[in-house]
Amino acid sequence: MDINSITVAAYIVASLLFILSLAGLSKHESAKSGLTYGMVGMAVAIIATIALAVDNMTNLDGKWISIGLMGGAVVIGALIGLWRAKIVEMTGMPELIALLHSFVGLAAVLIGWNGAITGAHLEHVADDDRGALIGIHGAEVAIGIFIGAVTFTGSIVANLKLSAKIKSAPLMLPGKNFINVGSLVVFAVLTGIYVARDLKDDTTGYVLLAVITALALFLGWHLVASIGGGDMPVVVSMLNSYSGWAAAASGFLLSNDLLIVTGALVGSSGAYLSYIMCKAMNRSFISVIAGGFGIEAGPAEDKDYGEHREIQADAAAELLAGASSVVITPGYGMAVAQAQYPVADLTAKLRAKGVDVRFGIHPVAGRLPGHMNVLLAEAKVPYDVVLEMDEINDDFPDTDVVLVIGANDTVNPAASEDPSSPIAGMPVLEVWNAKDVIVFKRSMAAGYAGVQNPLFFRENTQMLFGDAKDRVEDIISAL
Ligand code: NDP
Repeated sequence: MDINSITVAAYIVASLLFILSLAGLSKHESAKSGLTYGMVGMAVAIIATIALAVDNMTNLDGKWISIGLMGGAVVIGALIGLWRAKIVEMTGMPELIALLHSFVGLAAVLIGWNGAITGAHLEHVADDDRGALIGIHGAEVAIGIFIGAVTFTGSIVANLKLSAKIKSAPLMLPGKNFINVGSLVVFAVLTGIYVARDLKDDTTGYVLLAVITALALFLGWHLVASIGGGDMPVVVSMLNSYSGWAAAASGFLLSNDLLIVTGALVGSSGAYLSYIMCKAMNRSFISVIAGGFGIEAGPAEDKDYGEHREIQADAAAELLAGASSVVITPGYGMAVAQAQYPVADLTAKLRAKGVDVRFGIHPVAGRLPGHMNVLLAEAKVPYDVVLEMDEINDDFPDTDVVLVIGANDTVNPAASEDPSSPIAGMPVLEVWNAKDVIVFKRSMAAGYAGVQNPLFFRENTQMLFGDAKDRVEDIISAL
């Protein structure tokens, strides 16, 4: 068997492992094995690709230098990856993921430019067939660079927003929808001109490509900058999808079937995740792709909701001890405080006293899809008391006490009651329907979307200020 057949076989095995990986990742029980399939698949893919590349090298003198360069790049990349994965906090995962998406975008831009300059995959084509293929090649180059550049700058803006290095409020350039649609039209026209020309050694071709690159870099920045904090979850999964399409476009340019398959898997699963999140957040999928959703509402106004009431840990413990049903709704603050362990202890203690304790999980609580489920699973909270928003929302009127632990936007009644709110229309956990609500947070500051929360000023709400972990531990001691 020659190396080409072995590589094809290895690519099929890797593709199957990636599909098994995605299937595994769709449920928490099988997520670990899903990750293992993905890692094995990626190892098979890297080894097969390097083996094929080495076998294809015809210049024997340069062969060892090329192998050394490739090996060096793999080792350096793997070490940086291991180091980042080891030190990253759970709360820092979304911004790290956004940064990794930006690398995929940048790689697609570089591969596109390389393809334009070297005519890379046309090398093996007979001269007679070149004419027909040059147009297809041009389209692959322009589309690959465009998707890659949009992904690159979009992901960098997402990284900056998620790490709070820039404000999460939406950028409101006048005529933003016109800018987005106009950029797409200009791209289509420029690509048409680029494809229609015989671009070999043509400086004008490079100028066209440079304009396409700059346009796409601008569009990526503008699409994500125009979107407010509350809508960022959908943007992150959309960028995940774009990074897949960027990889697939690179696969066409490099004539690498596995890259096409893998890119398509990431692209379509990311698009499907975005669709599910749009449904969960009551947003239109089409307007997400157009980068225009959630931005018609103006910036949050400072409304006067009156006075809030405070409670101390011992009084909260008393309230809990007298309750027969308790629902805990965790949010990003629980992740920041690492309060999941004391929360699990408190749950066990209350359940031992005969209190019915359940969790209500909002689909975008925290900063990652499934963020809260992961934290609660880590602290060994039983799965059967962890319910989705839709499963628990009707039960709040029959609940004695709700503990809102570091959640804010996901329990904000303005989403359903104030049509002018930037988060209007987003379904939320209707905790205010319970008898008593205790909100754990450090101050009266707004949530990630930058919107004040009228829940904090309701008659049946009491604020328990301080770090969520410390306050939950205080309640456990008082109990
Ligand atoms: P928010 O991000 O709206 O609010 C978190 C709250 O936690 C803050 O108000 C903060 O208040 C409090 N907090 C922070 N640290 C602590 C601490 N140590 N102890 C106690 N409280 C603390 O939380 P939600 O989970 O309700 O909402 C998630 C938001 O993030 C949504 O807007 C969502 O759209 C967005 N998002 C979600 C993503 C996802 O995939 N899940 C991805 C990207 C964005 P204070 O500072 O006063 O303590």
